[in-house]
Amino acid sequence: MKIIVANWKMNGDLDLVSAFIERINAIETKNTIVVCPPAALIREFNDFHHLIGAQNCFYEDKGAFTGENSPKLLKKLGCGCVIIGHSERRALFGETDEIVFKKHEAALRNELIPIVCIGEKANERVQWKHVLTKQIEKFIGAPLQNTIFAYEPVWSIGTGMIPTTEEIQEALAFIKNKLGRNVPCLYGGSVNASNAESILKVDTVDGLLIGGASLKPDEFAKITMM
Ligand code: PEP
Repeated sequence: MKIIVANWKMNGDLDLVSAFIERINAIETKNTIVVCPPAALIREFNDFHHLIGAQNCFYEDKGAFTGENSPKLLKKLGCGCVIIGHSERRALFGETDEIVFKKHEAALRNELIPIVCIGEKANERVQWKHVLTKQIEKFIGAPLQNTIFAYEPVWSIGTGMIPTTEEIQEALAFIKNKLGRNVPCLYGGSVNASNAESILKVDTVDGLLIGGASLKPDEFAKITMM
């Protein structure tokens, strides 16, 4: 059983929601499927037979934080998990490792499974171990029974470039070695229906986090059935 997560980012509309629900609800798979649409579309997934997640949440449950998403309300809306620290949040919205850790605590406090994203940038490829170590440092010793990590090399996101399966194996083994063998780890970065199968065969890979290809219901459906 693998965990297959769709990250729509700030894409999609009501038509895509309908097409996606119709296509993915018809699937028979042993895998766990999660869709993370933009927050404004979450309620449209009431009839979805699989899990719904959010793409981000704030680290407080309520208050004067205009524009932020409350983890408490996301839970009430039916979300089971939340992506935390996606590289786009880190790069465009100034999310630091400290903020990511606080969001992780907020997610757990609200019984949302955090999917914590980590990964090195293009100019950090040689020092990837150092980068990952820094990003996960705070999590060592934290309660991780209900946490998922996603290794997403930033240079691979949306670029069509992916690490070799050996590199993915090594990176996920490195993360599990630091955080505990049982922590589920996903791979994310330019996954599509052509490369998903070989990545899913990597022994350290517990699932996939999929951006672009998750906007194509047929292609995403194929991946969920691998
Ligand atoms: C992502 O946004 O997490 C991602 C992996 O995107 P893509 O699949 O498009 O590279």
